[in-house]
Amino acid sequence: MSDTKKSEKILGVKGMNDILPHEAPLWELFENTVQSVLRSYGYQQIRTPIVEPTALFSRGLGEVTDIVEKEMYSFTDSMNGDELTLRPECTAGVVRSVLEHNLTYDGPKRLWYAGQMFRHERPQRGRYRQFHQVGAEAVGFTGPDIDAELIMLCQRLWDDLGLSGIRLEINSIGDAKERQAHRADLIAYFELHKEQLDADAQRRLHSNPLRILDTKNPAMQTLVNEAPKLIDYLGEESRAHFDGVQSLLRHNSIPFTINPRLVRGMDYYNRTVFEWITDQLGSQGTVCGGGRYDPLVEIFGGKPTPAVGFAMGVERLLELMKATSGEISRSHCDVYLVHQGEAALLEAFTLGERLRDAGLDVVLHCASTGGPGSFKSQMKRADASGAAYAIILGEDEIAKGAATVKYLRDADPLDNQRSVALDAVADHLIDHMTADDDHDHGHLHAGQIHTHH
Ligand code: ATP
Ligand code: MG
Repeated sequence: MSDTKKSEKILGVKGMNDILPHEAPLWELFENTVQSVLRSYGYQQIRTPIVEPTALFSRGLGEVTDIVEKEMYSFTDSMNGDELTLRPECTAGVVRSVLEHNLTYDGPKRLWYAGQMFRHERPQRGRYRQFHQVGAEAVGFTGPDIDAELIMLCQRLWDDLGLSGIRLEINSIGDAKERQAHRADLIAYFELHKEQLDADAQRRLHSNPLRILDTKNPAMQTLVNEAPKLIDYLGEESRAHFDGVQSLLRHNSIPFTINPRLVRGMDYYNRTVFEWITDQLGSQGTVCGGGRYDPLVEIFGGKPTPAVGFAMGVERLLELMKATSGEISRSHCDVYLVHQGEAALLEAFTLGERLRDAGLDVVLHCASTGGPGSFKSQMKRADASGAAYAIILGEDEIAKGAATVKYLRDADPLDNQRSVALDAVADHLIDHMTADDDHDHGHLHAGQIHTHH
């Protein structure tokens, strides 16, 4: 069927990126920080499948949303005819899982997730077809306290990641009844100005007029700015809830602005909505969005259960991290093992395992095209590996029962190697590393991350 020639390179899918080894340290730093912040607030990780039944999203997100209308990777499983979709977001999957496993049987749950999402959008900076989100979902909590906690958790994450200049916008979109009253006035307002609506807005005028407020069309900004504001329609309970969120944020010194136009894309949101936005990423400046979605559990057939959550765009946050702290590099290993001869190869394997037992990261030189390589070419590899030490095992070393330890960094050029008995190598290296730490020579150790500008 396909007429691609066998010799032609097959490229990755457009808008779906490889994360290459040199980028991995930044991802790891991000993931470790996320994990420790979420743990520090008592959130537990949940991992749901990347593929879900298509109905989960069409029902959960609402038919008239960007995602369901035009962004989903949906397909029919040719084996059994099931209608499936690559998850475009994770809230629906988490709620499905909570219901399926009755996770809230013994009380509310604080959950978080991380992983790939898929949306068929036009790829551009900060917008990809496969991207990553980290999110939290607090299921079973009613009050403004948990809303404020989720927001504060984000602030702590930005601080721990060294990010500044991410501002918080909040709004309340009220409850269904309040939105209904507002909706009627909103439609009337837009009908009066119908000639100013673009095609998307015209189409949504009666199906989802609230979403028109979310428009990115510059020509419509004045129109939506002057539209009836939901916030003026809030009843007593919604008002009190929103006031509660605000006073907790003030108490905790979290600055925010109220953006009456903030509505969020998905239909299932109610009351509190919020976004974290930066000006450093051009038009793709929203790094995190969230809010309350009390109706969703019932939409999925569960008993009424309030819930609130957020999702952040990992790629956008990593771009901010790069802009703030530069590339992050990390030594690939502590030790590079160089060897020559059959006996030395066997000894190198044994010594390598012993050093790993002692907690060191060790790369054993292995043969590549052109054979095992001369000492000289192996030493070149050792230098390039970023290792702090090369350990050399040759015929002489094997005969003596010792290894030559070569200090590759911060070494005195006249005294840059030692012969060390094989069973003392691990201790010698650890002593050397610790002494170095004490003198603050800035050596890179196992797992340590080093930033430079
Ligand atoms: P936008 O209005 O920019 O399309 P959205 O409302 O669709 O955003 P959400 O569904 O709320 O976004 O997702 C939460 C976050 O995930 C966004 O704020 C953004 O940081 C990130 N995100 C969303 N879509 C993409 C994408 N296609 N590529 C990269 N990151 C994305
Ligand atoms: Mg979108």
